[in-house]
Amino acid sequence: MSRPVTEIPGVGPNVAARLKALGIVREIDLLFHLPLRYEDRTRITPLGRIRPEQSHQVEGTVADQQIRPGRRRSMLVLLEEPRGQLTLRFFRFYPNQKRMLAPGRRVRCYGEVRHGPEGLEMVHPQVTPLEGNRPPPLPENLTAIYPCTTGLAQANLARLIDQALDRLARKPELLADPLGPDETGMGLAQAILTAHRPPPDADLDALADGRHPAIRRLAFEELLGHNLAMVRLTRERARHQARDLKDPEGLAARLLANLPFTPTGAQKRVIGELQAELSGTRPMRRLLQGDVGSGKTVVAAWALALAAGSGRQAAIVAPTEILAEQHHKTLAEWLEPLGIEIVWLAGKVKGRARKHALEALKGQAGVAIGTHALFQAGVEFRDLALVVVDEQHRFGVHQRLELARKGTKDFHIPHQLIMTATPIPRTLAMTAYAGLDVSVLDELPPGRKPVTTVAINAERREEIIARIRSALEAGRQAYWVCTLIEETEEMEAEAAEATVETLRAALPAARVGLIHGRMKAGEKESVMAGFAASEVDLLVATTVIEVGVDVPNASLMIIENAERLGLSQLHQLRGRVGRGSRQSACVLIYRPPLSATARARLEVMRETGDGFVIAERDLELRGPGEVLGTRQTGMMRFRIADLARDHALLESASAAGSGILDQTPETAELLIRRWIGQGRDYGEV
Ligand code: ADP
Ligand code: MG
Repeated sequence: MSRPVTEIPGVGPNVAARLKALGIVREIDLLFHLPLRYEDRTRITPLGRIRPEQSHQVEGTVADQQIRPGRRRSMLVLLEEPRGQLTLRFFRFYPNQKRMLAPGRRVRCYGEVRHGPEGLEMVHPQVTPLEGNRPPPLPENLTAIYPCTTGLAQANLARLIDQALDRLARKPELLADPLGPDETGMGLAQAILTAHRPPPDADLDALADGRHPAIRRLAFEELLGHNLAMVRLTRERARHQARDLKDPEGLAARLLANLPFTPTGAQKRVIGELQAELSGTRPMRRLLQGDVGSGKTVVAAWALALAAGSGRQAAIVAPTEILAEQHHKTLAEWLEPLGIEIVWLAGKVKGRARKHALEALKGQAGVAIGTHALFQAGVEFRDLALVVVDEQHRFGVHQRLELARKGTKDFHIPHQLIMTATPIPRTLAMTAYAGLDVSVLDELPPGRKPVTTVAINAERREEIIARIRSALEAGRQAYWVCTLIEETEEMEAEAAEATVETLRAALPAARVGLIHGRMKAGEKESVMAGFAASEVDLLVATTVIEVGVDVPNASLMIIENAERLGLSQLHQLRGRVGRGSRQSACVLIYRPPLSATARARLEVMRETGDGFVIAERDLELRGPGEVLGTRQTGMMRFRIADLARDHALLESASAAGSGILDQTPETAELLIRRWIGQGRDYGEV
C-alpha cells in the first residue's frame, strides 16, 4: 500500500495535489488520515423524538416550501411525519435542491437540530432523496468525517479512503505488521479499520481523545517510527563533522553590541552554550525553548552572524511567509550593517528575483532567510554550516532534515538550532527529541507587564465590544481570533468573514482587517503590514496568526471559543500581546456549559503567564472527553500521536527503539519509511 496515490485509479494530478496538501502522498497515507469526528447514520430518529443541540438522521415528507425574501434570502422547508415535524432552513440553495424538496417529496436528512423561530429546525442539513419504495440502505458503521482541504470535497476524500480500506479489509497482508497485535489484541490493520469504521456502539469519546485501543495502537507505532528515525539519526551524526565556527572578526559580538537593548541574562547564557558547541566540529543539534517574547530572534541572529563571520553560510527558516518576512525585516536591520549579504527566498519569489537569490546562495551570501522554499530541489548553498529552524512544531521532521541535507557535503553536516515557543516539559523533551540538547530562555526582557486575562461568557458581548472600543480609543490595536475548529479552511474563513461583518457594525469607527488561511500569501502579508503600520485597528484572524507575529502596539487579544482550545494554543495566542511596555489584556470568550476541564484550563490562563507552568498543567488536564486533534496541540506535528496525550506511549516507544534498531533493522527500516517516509534519506544526515 505504499504506492503513490497517483497510481490509484481515478486520482489525477489535480486530486493528487490536493491530497498532498493534507500530507497524503501514498495510498497508506489515506489510511493514516483519521476522521475528525463521526456521524451516526446507522439509524433514523422519528421526528417526534428529535432533541435540540443533537445531530439526528430523520426521514419525512415535505409539507411546504417557502422562499423568504430579505437581506438573507432563505428557503424554509417543512418536513412532516405523522408524529412530528421539523423545519429545514437554507441560506444558499440551488434549483435542484428546490426540486428535491418540493412538497410531496420524501427525503432523508442529517444535521444538527436547534431551536429556531418556527420551532425545531436544521440549518443546511444533508439531504438524500428517497425515491420509489426502496430507500437506500443504512450504513452498518458510523460515518467518518475527515479533515478536508480546499478543492477536495469531503465525499471525494471519503470515497478514496473507503476504497483503500476495502482493499485492506480484503487483504490485510498488504500491510506488513511486524509489531503484531498489542496487549489489547489490536493489530495494525484492525486498528486502522476500527478507527475509520467504528461500530455504532463504539466509545466515541475514547476515539476522539485517543484512549481507544485502535488509536493507541496507531499512535504507538507512529511514535516508535519517529523514535527509530531519531536514534538512527543520532548514530549517523556521530560519524559526521560540522564546521567549527570561529568568527575571527567578531561579527557576532559586534551584533550584540549594536543592539538597541542589552541582552537578558538568559540570552547571554544561551549564547554562551551555543558558542561552546559551534566552535567545535561535533555537529550541534540543539533545541532552544523560550516562551513567546523571550527574545529567541536575538539568539538566532547571533548564531547567523557567527556563521557568516566564519566565512560560511547559515539559513533561518520560518513556517509561514508572514513570519519569514518578519525575520527578514529584523535580521536585515541587524546583519546588513555588519556587511553580511542576505538572501530572501520564499514561494512567491519567482522569475528573475529567484534566479538572483539562487546565484547568491551559491556565491557570497552569508545568510539565507525564508520559508520551506529553502528546502526545495534546485536550491544549492556554497557552504551551509548552520540551519536555524523557527517554531519547529509547524514543520514535519523530514522537512527539517531536507534542509540539513542541503548542507551535507563530504562528511560535513550543518549545525542545527531548533527554536520553539512551546515549552515542552523536560520529561517529554528528552524522549520526543531524542538526541537533542536543550537550552532554555527562562527570562523575559525587562519592562514587560504580565497580560491581564479574563474569561467572559459569549452572551456578555456588549462588554467585550466596549473593551475593544476603549483600547482603540486609547490608540492601541486589537486582535480578534476566531478559533472555530472546522473541517476546512474555507469554513473557517467564512466564519471569520461573518465576524468581521458583526464587528464592523458594532464598531463603525474602527478599521477592521481580516486574515485567514484561504487568502493568498501576498494578501495576508499586506494585511499584516497594514496592521503593523497601524492602518488597521482591529485584526480578525483565524489561527494563522498563532505563532511569532510581533506588533508591540497591539494590546488586546480576544479569543473566541476559548473553551475549545488547548492550553498551549491559548498561551501562544495570548503571547501576541504584552510585547510592548504597556499593560495588555486578553479576553477569553466561552460558551457555557463549561466542562470541568475547560473550566480548569481557563482558570490556569487567568492565574499564570508562565509557559512552563502552563505546559505542565496542559499535560495534567488533557482529560477524557476532549476533542483535541493533533493540529490543536501546538507541539510537534504527528499524524496520529499527540505528545501531550500519549506521553506514556512515548516512553514505551523510546524504550523499544534502540533494541529494534540493533536486533531487527529491517523492521526499523520499514517503520521509519512507513511513518516518516523517505527512510533512506533520513539516515543520511
Ligand atoms: P520570541 O522569542 O517570541 O521569538 P522575539 O525574538 O520576537 O521573541 O522578541 C520579542 C521582542 O522583544 C522583540 O521586539 C525584540 O526586539 C525584543 N527583545 C528581545 N530581546 C530583548 C532584550 N534583551 N531587551 C529588550 N527587548 C528585547
Ligand atoms: Mg519568534
